[in-house]
Amino acid sequence: MNFIESLLFLFLIVSDSQAFTSPIQKTSRSHEVILANTKEGNSELVPNRHVECLIVGGGISGSTLAHNLNRAGVDIMLAEARDYLGGNVKSHKTEDGFIWEAGPNSFATQPSIVRIAYELGIDDQLVFADESLPPWVNHNGKLHPLPKGQGGKGAQGQIELVFGPNGVLKFGLAGDLLSWPGRIRAGIGAFLGHQPPPEGKEETIREWVTRTLGEEVYLRCIDPFVSGVYAGNPETLSMKAALPKIARIEKIAYSLDWNKFGAIFYGGLARQVELTKERKADPPDAAWPEFEYGNPGSFREGLSTLPNAISAELKDKINLEWKITKIDKGSDGEYVATFETPEGVQTIQAKSIVSTVPAHSLADVLQPVMPESKSIFEKVRSEISRVGVYHPPVAAVTVAYPKASFKDVELPNGFGNLQDLPGFGSLNPRSEGVRTLGTLWSSSLFPGRAPPDYNLLLNYIGGSRDVGLADLSEDEIIAEVDKGCRQVLLKKDAPEPKVLGLKIWPTAIPQYELGHLPLMKELETAEAKLPGLWVCGNYQTGVAFPDCVTFGYEHAKTVKKFLDTVVVESQLQETVKVSL
Ligand SMILES: Cc1cc2nc3c(=O)[nH]c(=O)nc-3n(C[C@H](O)[C@H](O)[C@H](O)COP(=O)(O)OP(=O)(O)OC[C@H]3O[C@@H](n4cnc5c(N)ncnc54)[C@H](O)[C@@H]3O)c2cc1C
Repeated sequence: MNFIESLLFLFLIVSDSQAFTSPIQKTSRSHEVILANTKEGNSELVPNRHVECLIVGGGISGSTLAHNLNRAGVDIMLAEARDYLGGNVKSHKTEDGFIWEAGPNSFATQPSIVRIAYELGIDDQLVFADESLPPWVNHNGKLHPLPKGQGGKGAQGQIELVFGPNGVLKFGLAGDLLSWPGRIRAGIGAFLGHQPPPEGKEETIREWVTRTLGEEVYLRCIDPFVSGVYAGNPETLSMKAALPKIARIEKIAYSLDWNKFGAIFYGGLARQVELTKERKADPPDAAWPEFEYGNPGSFREGLSTLPNAISAELKDKINLEWKITKIDKGSDGEYVATFETPEGVQTIQAKSIVSTVPAHSLADVLQPVMPESKSIFEKVRSEISRVGVYHPPVAAVTVAYPKASFKDVELPNGFGNLQDLPGFGSLNPRSEGVRTLGTLWSSSLFPGRAPPDYNLLLNYIGGSRDVGLADLSEDEIIAEVDKGCRQVLLKKDAPEPKVLGLKIWPTAIPQYELGHLPLMKELETAEAKLPGLWVCGNYQTGVAFPDCVTFGYEHAKTVKKFLDTVVVESQLQETVKVSL
């Protein structure tokens, strides 16, 4: 039966919600410090300003890195092409009582987020969802809840997750998302074993899930989940690049001597034990607000609260509407970055530079210092018809309908009436004929998102398998979204939606597709030749919001270490000069 996918969800969504964390850990390269390189340097550049660290890109990765470096006493500048910090994080509030997001909807809470909120004094604005709210899968005209606990902590939470009213056991025995043959196939893969991974072949998400748990789990559980989170195509996304933590569970499963056929359930259990130990070894600070790992969270007034607080903290260390066009070497071996700004071309000299701008903006910028950049960022992967790192278009469409216009049906497992939208949101497998990938039930997640008589829905539509979305007019996109809501959630006579916002992200989420890891390896090799320059971003260190915040915290340590080494080296050189 299908404890499997509950299993999968147990490890994927519920307990280890950073399932999507990138396998690429930015190594803290101990850069060999090059102090001067006059031959290679471009002596014509006359910088307008000098800083120790220039951070380029003011999304969540860049702004949180800037906060951490500034806190560590580093002289920084943060440069951002748009006129606000946050990148694709943008919250809005309307006068008639709606708070809505133009980009990401929430984060799976991790210590890095609670830490930075505490440091910025916005921890009292953190809001967390009711932990028992499940994601629902739309299948055969019905909504099916995925297993979740009841919000109990520690062991109690795990017991609820397995035996609770919406637990794994109930899902496996009484749920009807999977057919019996589907459950049996999945159960065999989870508890007895499955084919080993093919040698020498990088598997797609589809291949991996089908091999381990069967086609039905893939189609009804994983496909909607992956398209809902990555807006991606599980037939081109690389399992070990896009879902590294889940892929690792199989490795752990095979490492258990007695588990000859790699049944992943036992790998999952072992990972759970490992995770519990890791968390115990590095507990959250007692001064932080209490939180549950992985629980969906946000801020009372939306996710922009975080970049807005960083804006207020860093003030004139931020330059908005500064678009980087080139990174070069100056005559003394330091870096010189050129920007197009409202005040004309500006150049900044920096001991170190961290780029967090999207991969698709980088090839030309890096060319003067990293000749390989074009071949890396524009590499053709003909087997999956890709050039460089693919960022497909996604539209985020926020609409509201009166509660009374939602279907008046009782949901399974005691969740109550659909009109109250008791859940995280609904996912649409591609087989169900609904163009919207997923609908987040925003007003159910966090307080104060909509007036009491309305339900607020954030719909994501487009992605790798629907690039034609970008050719539609705004009215056509809204019509598609409204149609999807009517197919899944609304009564036939529901009124027209109240449209709060439509934002098309032409290059939304980077896709970790087949060949991504070798590409990133090439980038790392090229970067290693350039001490003090780091080329980072969500295409490398993970796409989820918490990954970006964690990057900002961890990478600050690497930059600080580098800068401290530069100071020691230059002091040594001075001493040698004096004593000569
Ligand atoms: C529609 C959508 C929904 C999402 N939903 C979720 C969700 O619910 N939960 C979740 O965890 N994650 C979600 N994500 C993913 C997550 O939000 C992103 O991965 C994360 O915000 C990326 O942050 P970043 O700083 O790495 O990149 P970005 O936000 O892309 O920031 C990069 C910055 O670089 C700037 N820039 C670009 N070119 C230049 C240049 N030449 N010079 C200077 N600056 C430049 C850009 O303007 C931008 O501000 C979503 C993403 C999208 C697009």
